Amino acid sequence: MSARLRIVGGTVHDPANGIDGEVRDICIEDGRITAGLPDGAPTLDARGMIVMAGGVDIHSHLASSSCNHARRLLPEEHSADPTPAPALLDGAAPPRSGTGGTVPTTFTNGYRYAGLGYTTVFDAAVAPVMARHTHAELEDTPCVDGGFFALMGNDEYLLRQVAAGERERARDYAAWLLGSTGAYAIKIVNPGGVEAWKSGQRNLNGLDEALATHGVTPRAILETLTDAANQLGLPHPVHIHCNNLGLRGNVAVTLASMQALAGRRAHFTHVQFHSYGGPGWSSGAVPIIEYVNAHAELSIDVGQVMFGPATTITADGPVEYLLHKSSGRKWVNIDIELETGCGIVPLLYKDKAAVSALQWAIGLELFLLSRDPWRVVLSTDHPNGGSFLSYPALIQLLMDRNVREEKLKQVNPKLLAGSALADGLTREYTLNEIAIITRAGPARLLGLGQKGHLGAGADADVTVYAKDADIAQMFATPRYVIKGGTLVVEEGQLRRAPAGRRLHVRPGYDDALLPDLRRYFDAYSTVSFENYPVSGIPDDPLPLSP
Ligand SMILES: [Zn+2]
Repeated sequence: MSARLRIVGGTVHDPANGIDGEVRDICIEDGRITAGLPDGAPTLDARGMIVMAGGVDIHSHLASSSCNHARRLLPEEHSADPTPAPALLDGAAPPRSGTGGTVPTTFTNGYRYAGLGYTTVFDAAVAPVMARHTHAELEDTPCVDGGFFALMGNDEYLLRQVAAGERERARDYAAWLLGSTGAYAIKIVNPGGVEAWKSGQRNLNGLDEALATHGVTPRAILETLTDAANQLGLPHPVHIHCNNLGLRGNVAVTLASMQALAGRRAHFTHVQFHSYGGPGWSSGAVPIIEYVNAHAELSIDVGQVMFGPATTITADGPVEYLLHKSSGRKWVNIDIELETGCGIVPLLYKDKAAVSALQWAIGLELFLLSRDPWRVVLSTDHPNGGSFLSYPALIQLLMDRNVREEKLKQVNPKLLAGSALADGLTREYTLNEIAIITRAGPARLLGLGQKGHLGAGADADVTVYAKDADIAQMFATPRYVIKGGTLVVEEGQLRRAPAGRRLHVRPGYDDALLPDLRRYFDAYSTVSFENYPVSGIPDDPLPLSP
């Protein structure tokens, strides 16, 4: 494979560089996009095809001890979807078999993401003490650059610092934790609510309800970690899963959380699951998206529900208990010492089920009422709202009003009366807007300057689609995918599976933290202070903002 390649004559959608459907060549040299190449460089004929940067998934669950528990919970998915080793070219890395379903095995995750034209993926929820497991899984997830967000919103040491008013020490601890585990960003899940679940208080229901164990409120946790991320100059701001996920009326706590952080950079995740009106089931999408539209410091990913099988995997223990009780399905509940929790319940979203149909509609309302695609990006919270394999069908719903309206006629309408979608939303996303919500936008929100675009110096992650009247088909089967300059998918077939890079940060902190932290480990942790940090993390940490 030559280090040089000229992709000739494709129709390029590169919104980060202001290019919206221009026919031009894209040149690659030594794994990077370059402004030009000498005549005679090898070429790839993309005439008549669509060229975009590789996809960037800002929020997925693919490489964690929680995913492994989900795999263990769902053996029926393994026999239903075996994935034979792909026919890679000689000299490529040895191909590996695996299993699919909603929670595929590691190699299958890499192959399938690449087959979809995605080249960068983040696992959005990793217990820091289990970071080694995640690094091992990412090691075995080829074709994509990857990283993870570290769960901190229910961490015992952090809660103690918040309770004591020691916000600078909390920030130093967050920095130490990110660097020690090789994480990329700070994740909050149900701030305080997971600790409430673990300690028998069940849950926290509002921003100002305090933890009985610590006297700390969700508001204080949100403020502390949001400021920590911003003060440390992390490339991605704090990544927030709000309180009361999935509950009727939760739009109130979601809005209150956004208001609590007004003026501060923050990312709210899978907002569909946090946009329910009350007291009966109804859409709360309009007030949420109006608030997001009006506040440039905020960004969201949608967490679209797609009909079909899903597996909910979350640190949000209390919501999984409720899902288990209401669905009667299998359930995993794990308390992770000192740090967080984990719950898993498989689910089936049915278009004839009223609540599933409402969730589907709310996600689409968030997309279709968004005024800034750079801040409202695509996710299904894989595999919580549906598999990442459903992204092409979701893109089709956004781009094709007819397909959307036909589907709307088939779903249970019981809870949709008065919703914006039922009242009629005519918007159709353009290819450029799709390029924003699937690559340029998430790359920018993640602070990845070399991802999500095709300007000179960017990583040579490129996806080439053959035009097809069936939009879902087009996005499901890219003709070519190039990862870091390597032709991974050729004529629609996976041919090479290079290892991805690890994306992580190592912010500085005040060493005065360490003696206190060591005493805490000695007193409470089953892992010694010396053994906690992960060694041997590949690739240099990414730079921080000054
Ligand atoms: Zn998630």
